[in-house]
Parts: sequence; C-alpha cells; structure tokens
Amino acid sequence: MDPVPLIPETDISVIFQVAIPASPCYQAFDYLPPHDTPLDNVQPGIRLEVPFGTGDSKKIAFLLAIVKHTDCPLSKLKRVTRLIDDEPLLKEKDMQLLHWLSQYYHYPLGEVMSSAFPVSLRQGKAALLPVKKKSVMNKTEVPVVSVEQELQCNLSQQQAINAVCASLGQFNVFLLEGVTGSGKTEVYMQIIRTVLERGQQILVLVPEINLTPQLEARFRKRFAVSIAVSHSGLTNRQRHMVWMDVQQGHSAILLGTRSALFTPLKNPGLIILDEEHDSSFKQQEGFRFSARDVAIVKAKLLDVPVLLGTATPSLESLQNINRGRFQWLHLPERAGFAVAPEVQIVDIRNKKMLEGLSSSLIEQIKITLARNEQVLLFLNRRGFAPTLICHTCSWVARCLQCDANLVIHARQNRLRCHHCFSEQPLINQCPACNTPALTPLGLGTERVEQVLASVFPDKTIVRLDLDSTRRKGALEGFLDKINSGEADIILGTQMLAKGHHFPNVTLVAILDVDSGLFSVDFHASEKLAQLIIQVSGRAGRAEKKGRVLLQTRQPDHPLLTTLINQGYRDFATSALAERYAASLPPFSFQALLRAQATDSNKTELFFEAVLGLIKRQNLTETRVLGPIPAPMLKKAGFYRYQLLFQNNNRLELQKFLAVLIPEMVKLKQTAKVRWSLDVDPVDLY
Ligand code: ADP
Ligand code: ZN
Ligand code: ZN
Repeated sequence: MDPVPLIPETDISVIFQVAIPASPCYQAFDYLPPHDTPLDNVQPGIRLEVPFGTGDSKKIAFLLAIVKHTDCPLSKLKRVTRLIDDEPLLKEKDMQLLHWLSQYYHYPLGEVMSSAFPVSLRQGKAALLPVKKKSVMNKTEVPVVSVEQELQCNLSQQQAINAVCASLGQFNVFLLEGVTGSGKTEVYMQIIRTVLERGQQILVLVPEINLTPQLEARFRKRFAVSIAVSHSGLTNRQRHMVWMDVQQGHSAILLGTRSALFTPLKNPGLIILDEEHDSSFKQQEGFRFSARDVAIVKAKLLDVPVLLGTATPSLESLQNINRGRFQWLHLPERAGFAVAPEVQIVDIRNKKMLEGLSSSLIEQIKITLARNEQVLLFLNRRGFAPTLICHTCSWVARCLQCDANLVIHARQNRLRCHHCFSEQPLINQCPACNTPALTPLGLGTERVEQVLASVFPDKTIVRLDLDSTRRKGALEGFLDKINSGEADIILGTQMLAKGHHFPNVTLVAILDVDSGLFSVDFHASEKLAQLIIQVSGRAGRAEKKGRVLLQTRQPDHPLLTTLINQGYRDFATSALAERYAASLPPFSFQALLRAQATDSNKTELFFEAVLGLIKRQNLTETRVLGPIPAPMLKKAGFYRYQLLFQNNNRLELQKFLAVLIPEMVKLKQTAKVRWSLDVDPVDLY
C-alpha cells in the first residue's frame, strides 16, 4: 500500500481558502491546513473548524479551494483546527449555485453557504445519516409509486403534462397558467409520477408553511414513496433529518417553503414552484433572495425542467412568456364539473353597515347557510380594530417606537404594534384628557368574528389568522373543521387566499377591497389584483356554483372593473403597458439600498458617503434615486431611508453593484448604520 501523503509542516504551497459566515465579510480567508492531514481526500465544499476573531473563538467554515499562493504574510496565517466532513455534503452544482447567489445578491459567500445548511450542520455537528433506509433513488429498483388512482385528465391538462414530461432531463421553464380550480395539482402529480418512475427526485416549493399540510396529504394519498417536508415549523433535529434524507436520496419528494430550495438533491429530476406570483417567495430579511428566480437558476445548473404554476402570473413571468423565455401552458377552465364563480361589486357608499357587513352581504350569507353551504369572508387585518381614538380630544393610541397606530387585540386585552414587538394593556380612559371612553375605529378579524357570532348565533365560525393559528396544530384543527363541514363561516386574512381547496364554499366576500387600492408602491395594484382573483377562486370549486362579493366605495375604479369584466389577463396587459411607459420592472431592473439608525443623522452621512463613492467611481450608467425616507420612516426606534438603483440592463446594474458594494462596506459611515441591499425588490417598504 502506498503511504498516505501528508502535508509537510513547512510546505507553504498549500493554502486553504475558506468562506466564513461572518457578515459583512465578503472576501475569502486564507488558512494553513490542519496538522498531519492526508491531502488526498480533501475536497472543496467540506466543512471545517477555524480559529476566527479574538481569543479562542472558533467558527465553522467552508473550504472553497486549495491554492498555492497567499497575499497574506505567512506569519499571520492561522491554522485550520480540524476538518469536519470526509467528503463535501454539497455537490459541485450546489456549490456553483451558492457562488452565483452570493454574486447576484451581493451577499457574503460565507453567509450564503451557511444558509444552505440546517442549523445542526452550521454548528459543525456530524452529518450523520438517519436510521438506515434503503435508498429509493437506487436506479435499479424503481419504487411501488402510485397508490390512489389518477384522475382522467382533460385535454389542456394532458397537453401540459406531455409538454413537461417531454422535457425531462433538460432545462426548460414552464409557466402553467391555470384558473383557480383548473386542476394544476393534478397536473403536478401526474408529472411527478413520471419523474418518480425515472428514479429521480422532485422539489416542490410553496409560498407558505400553511400550504404544506394540504399538499402533503394529497401527495401521500397518491404516492407510495418517502416524502420529506421542510419548513420553518420544524425543530432543528427534524430539519437535520429532512436535509440528510433528501441529500442521501432516501426521500423522493421534498415539499417545502423557500429555504427548502437549498437542500441538495441526490438525483434531481424536476422543480415545481406553486403560486409563483406570491411575494412570500421573496425572503425579506437577511439574505434577500427570490426563491422563484433562484429555482430557475438551480434548474438550469441541474439540467432539469422547472414548472411554475399560478392562476395569476406575475408581470415578470408574463413578460418572460412574451419574450419567449418561458413556455406557456394554459388551463383555461375549471376541472371536473366546477364552473367559474360569478363576481359582483357591492357599492357600500352611503350604505348602513353592521361592523363592515352590508345588508346585502348578510342576506347572501343567510341564503348560503340555509343551503348548508359554507361562506368565506376575507379581511386582511387581524386584531379587533386598527385604531383606538378619543372622540373628545382626538388622541390616538400610537406606537412610541414606530410611525404606526397600535392595534386593539380585545381578546387578550392588549394594544399591539404590528411592526415591532411592543405592546401594552388595553386602556379605556384617554391618557390625554381623561375622558372615560375610547372608541375602536376600523375593522379587524376579531371584531368581524364578534358581529358574526351575534348575527348567526347558532352557526360555527372559524377565524384563521396569524393570532388564531399561532398554537402548533391549530391550523390543522381549523382545516379539519372546514373540510368536515362543521364550520359554517370561515373568516380570515391572506392566509385563506392561497391554494386552499374548500369544496363546499360557495360564497366568498372581500369585506374591504379599498384598503389596497391606494398605495405609493407600484407593485400594489398587481398584488391586489392577484389577491382578489385568488380569494375569489375559493368559491364554488366543486359541483356547486360559486359567488363572490366585493365590498367597495370605489365601484368604478379601473382596476376593479377591468378585473371583473375582462379578467386577470387584461388587467395584467394594461398593467404591463403602464410599467413599460414608466420604465419600471420588468422593463428595468432595480436594487434598493436600505439603511437605518436610531439617529437619522447617521443614515444621512451614510448615504452622503455612498453618493460620493458613486460619483468618484464615475458610475453614471445606473440611475440613482433618493435617498428618500422609507414609507414608514420610524420603525422599532430606527429611522429608515432608502436609495434606489435602476438600470434597463440587468447586467449593467450588476456591474454597478459589483463595483459599489465592496467599496461601500469599507466606508467608516457604513459601520454606523444597519444596511441591506435588496436586489429585485418586490416591495419598496
Ligand atoms: P388548482 O390547483 O388548479 O386550483 P386543483 O388541482 O386543486 O386545482 O383541482 C381542483 C379540483 O378539481 C380538485 O378537487 C381536483 O381533484 C379536481 N380535478 C382536477 N382535475 C380533474 C379532472 N381532470 N377531472 C375531474 N376533477 C378534476
Ligand atoms: Zn382624549
Ligand atoms: Zn411599533
């Protein structure tokens, strides 16, 4: 046997380049290899432990490369403490994706790499396998895959299935535009079956954790393979198991929210991203990435097709269809016997309302319940009421930390700020003028629940919002109540809008459409149109015809009239034309630099320095707008400002950022603020 070659202590030609998760470190770090280490099996991608910072502190780092040269004086180089993995947990393609992410989002590579791993592995725990299972991915033994019988597809479903199946094994982006209830999930499942038969894995991404139980149940009923589910509700240990399970190829299907995207697949065959228009696919803090965009990049690297599904395509995706970049698949009609619901505007100007419910809505609810059908009411505001006011002196309960009103939570007797964590007991005497009565203004789900209970005392009402579903298992309990028919009226926030399939709901009402009609953010109208269509889509999904009521004081608003009379596609076409005329995305590309500090002077100095830098570097190609105060200037005690960068060419914008950001992090003013860069921002807040 040949002796294992060791790295001689004195050999300076072996330098380990590592990425360390330590924001804001953009550069790689050079280290000496650990003592007495066989060089043979050391591969980029493995985790290692390195001394970092002062004293004895250590960090888990990732090996990027073994090189022969360092710019660092050798005497300054520290030595890697130990190697953690024998072989990399990520394959080369996965590593490439992480490099791409770091470059495109201008986020430190160490942080990006760290976010690809579950907490346990980030902490340096051993990559132990779950209990020994046989890999279903072993190509020689194709599994026993379907249990439940497949539905007989209609023609458009079959065409969609055929198109994707014909593309397996190569990269392609498909956009499946199917009206709500058109049977997109059935299309997914039949394609998944084909991929399983090829012995490959499928990654299925949904925008929110709430949508996982329902889809998981449908998959489990259909497929006799191991299904892994990954979302923020799991414990660290569960996450570890899921990650390893998929990495090892034990699980054939990985269903999860956006972070599941980084789980390495042993044998990838297909990526599906449901509700592609949903802005929850965008991570809004820390490492800000768009799971939809990254899914496409990942599919390209892996040479697999990616299937985006939605009833309301994002304007970006529609533009990609127009440009021929995405292949368009269309399900124009509801599946089975279901037909499109009838949508009607309820003009509530000068109408007497009972806590947000018009008399015609109450009438329709009665009729629906008398038929033993379910009613779904949508209001995108939780709590009892958004404002507590004194009618004597106009005092309003405000958050001291934010430019926002405190929201009344009557059940818990609390006033809460929805923007920071501050809260206080609910008061009933005005602190300004001592008037012994304060008035709740406006509507929240708690308040509507109360009035519904008084109007329909013998009916079961289920309220679904962030507050009512906080407890583990609560959401599943409510969904059971709805599906078993026990619930008569379902009331909720945007949690209800997405993906759910409640066959016995025939009446849907949006209590307050107007709150979304006027916004400073150009994305708002697109989001509102999608929301209206999605909520409406919960009505009449089975044999019984559905009805949708939109309560509004703006019955002639063009967004509403176009959407209702002509449909989402016509709305989207005119919205795209407006974006084109104004050179807004998807016809241009943006990045938003946000900064905040408890002292607004510091943000001012920071942006001054950034603008100076842009000037010095002569970066004239990209438009620089601002800095302007954020729409909510003060939040959680911080004053927030932002600077917008815009270019008609994505590459040019990237070049601009690639010059700017590394220089910017070196500025002394940068260290004095909390800043973030948001590439392709989906909202300007
Ligand atoms: P989407 O995801 O497009 O909103 P789903 O996949 O949830 O729609 O389908 C809506 C309903 O239609 C489900 O009950 C589903 O079982 C049913 N369905 C789907 N395809 C067919 C079909 N080809 N024939 C009959 N029913 C179908
Ligand atoms: Zn008062
Ligand atoms: Zn606050």
